[in-house]
This record gives sequence, structure tokens and C-alpha cells, in this order.
Amino acid sequence: MDANDAVYDIAVVGLGPAGATLCRLLDPRFRVIAFDRKASDPAAPGFRKPCGGLLAEDAQLALSRQGLALPNEVLADPQLFSVRTIDLCRKLERTYRRFYINMDRHKFDLWLKSLIPAGVEVHHDASVRAFSREADSLWRIRYFENGEEKSVRARTIAGADGAASLVRKTLFPKHKIRSYTAVQQWFKDEQAAPLYACFFDERLTDCYGWAVSKDGELVFGAAFPRENASRAYELLRERAGQFGFVLKDPLRTEACQVLRPERARDFRVGTPEGAFLLGEAAGFISPSSLEGMSYALDSAEKLAAIFNAGGKDCDVASLFGQYRAGTRKIRLKLLTKILKNPFMYNPQLRTLVMKSGITAI
Ligand SMILES: Cc1cc2nc3c(=O)[nH]c(=O)nc-3n(C[C@H](O)[C@H](O)[C@H](O)COP(=O)(O)OP(=O)(O)OC[C@H]3O[C@@H](n4cnc5c(N)ncnc54)[C@H](O)[C@@H]3O)c2cc1C
Repeated sequence: MDANDAVYDIAVVGLGPAGATLCRLLDPRFRVIAFDRKASDPAAPGFRKPCGGLLAEDAQLALSRQGLALPNEVLADPQLFSVRTIDLCRKLERTYRRFYINMDRHKFDLWLKSLIPAGVEVHHDASVRAFSREADSLWRIRYFENGEEKSVRARTIAGADGAASLVRKTLFPKHKIRSYTAVQQWFKDEQAAPLYACFFDERLTDCYGWAVSKDGELVFGAAFPRENASRAYELLRERAGQFGFVLKDPLRTEACQVLRPERARDFRVGTPEGAFLLGEAAGFISPSSLEGMSYALDSAEKLAAIFNAGGKDCDVASLFGQYRAGTRKIRLKLLTKILKNPFMYNPQLRTLVMKSGITAI
């Protein structure tokens, strides 16, 4: 059969934590095709998700629920149990207890991809360029692979393509969600002791910055409103330097978009025509901590369970309704994070909390 004529039950766009988890948990009776810009070989050049690589407790819980244990090679050295929180404007510092797992994010992504069953047709190093709904209600997905433009058809499409999601933008071209530019650089780790720190400086950003020691290197980054992000990053680096952090001669620089939802309608889970959004593509990321992996794992698990229960011939509109209802808890949880935001990001409130020493070590 010509590849253009093949019809799949589900086409998954993007194999970060959300897409890889969905593919792993889908019942083998579905005919699934998946596309990911990343290469499968860890040494190969190509797309790597810029990330702090910290696995929060809720993400640890999701992995446990899904019966997974993290292999050693995914862990980064050292494991840290507290975060130094620094307000660079007021020169205030406090240390708080945290229970993150420190990981190599790229290795984590490749490990999750390696768990996808052989029955799923995975296209690594392949980029989806466009998709549209045809007269027979099937989705036509156009992708670019090995220098060639190709296409397939599928009954449903699952957009797990992250913050800059093509699937989300195609389904909701008019909807704008608040987004920031995350910039981070890697340095040889020359701090006095291994470090996990976060930085606030409202002169440069109303979001925050981070520094994490990883395998002899230090990643230092921050999320900025989209204009002048690189200038703001340089100033933040300079100010952190004045605070005693050693940040010279960057080894590499990364940047990408990160979403920061601010209202209920920023969460979009798809359309009744059989298009689904999961992970950050759905807007599922904490606007306070920018933690997104737990929501990627949770939403993928939910969508897989709904597909599996519905079976191959289930009405796609009904699947969509179930997924929308099934992700209500995720949306509510994120709404509470939106409400919590002022306590972290309002300078006066944050100063009060930090000065009070509540919950600090
Ligand atoms: C700088 C930074 C630091 C962060 N730190 C943390 C952290 O420490 N802990 C945490 O929990 N969260 C963190 N986050 C958030 C977290 O990285 C995301 O929320 C999470 O990765 C979302 O997972 P996902 O699977 O939905 O999307 P992604 O991880 O973004 O995966 C999407 C995948 O889709 C693929 N893709 C995209 N477009 C296409 C296309 N057109 N065709 C084919 N493939 C495509 C890409 O290969 C990509 O791997 C951070 C985010 C940023 C930007």
C-alpha cells in the first residue's frame, strides 16, 4: 500500500514525556503512528528540550502509578534536597526543602521513547509540517523526513508537541496563551558547593530564574517576557555573579518558548472532531514553578485510558467529551497554581513570606 493511503487509528505528534507516555500506554490493537523531531541516538545532533531536568513529586508519583522506575543512567549527580531562593533586588535569601529528582532531561526523554512498544510506528527525526481534515473526516498529516515531504491519514490526531504546538495553533489559530522565552546556559560547575537555586528579579522578569548543578556542570537559566530576553538574561547572569555565583565562559546556550497559563480558557484539550491535546500543548504547565512533566505524564495516562476503554470504533466526539471531563482535575489543580502565583511573584508578598521565614530551613 502507498504510505499516503495508509490509515492509522491515532497519529501522535511529538514524543516528549506526554507523547511517549501515550504511545507506551495505548492498547496494541490500535494502529498508531508517531512523529518526533528528536533523533533516537543519544549522540546524534538535533533537537533537545531545554529544561531544568527536575522531576517533581507529582511526576514521580505518575511514574510509580505507571509501574516505572528511573534507571540510573537518567539521573544527574548530585541529588539535592533544598532550594536556595534568592531575591536579587532586595538581596534576601532563604533555603526551602524540596524533593526533586535531578535528571539529565535528554536521557529521560530518550528513555521514555525507548519504552514505546514495537507495534507503534515511530518516525524519529521527523517533523510534522501541517495537518487538515479531509472530506471523509480523516486527518491528513504532512511531515518531513529524510529530506522528503510525506503524508499519512489518521482517524484521530494527538498533539503532544509542547509549548510551540503546531497542533494547538492549527486547531485554535486565534487563541493566544501567555508565553515566555526561556534562556539557559551551561557552565563548568565552579560553585563552592553543588547548587539548586532560584532567583527573583522583577526588574528583569515577572517569572523566575534557576541554577542547578548537574554532572560537573551548572545550568543557569530564566524565563523572560518575550521582548529583549537575551539582554535580560545577560543582566540576570551579571547580577547573580555579583551575588557570588561563578558564571563565566558558557559551554552552550539554549532557548525555547515556555507557556504560562493565566486563566481557565488557556487549557485546551482538543476538538470533538478527534483532535486531542496533551502535555504542554494543552497548556498543562504550572504558571508558578514552570513544572510541566507531571502534567504531561498525567494527561497522557488519562488519554490512553479513554482510548483503550473506547476501543477502535468508538465515536471520536464521545472520546473528546470523556477526555475533557477526565482532565478536569488537572485543570483545577493548575487553576489553584494560578491563584497561588501572587504569593510567589508579587514582590511585597514574597518579601513578607521570605522575611517571615515560614517553612524555611
Ligand atoms: C527551560 C525550561 C525548564 C524547565 N524545567 C522543568 C523542570 O525542571 N521540571 C519540569 O517538570 N518541567 C520543566 N519544564 C517544563 C517541561 O519541560 C515541559 O512542560 C514538558 O517537557 C512538557 O512535556 P510535553 O511532552 O508536553 O512536551 P515537550 O517535552 O516539549 O515535548 C514535545 C516534543 O514534541 C516534538 N515536536 C514538537 N513539534 C514537533 C513537530 N512539528 N513534529 C514532530 N515533533 C515535534 C519535540 O521533539 C519535543 O520533544 C521546563 C521548561 C523549560 C522551557
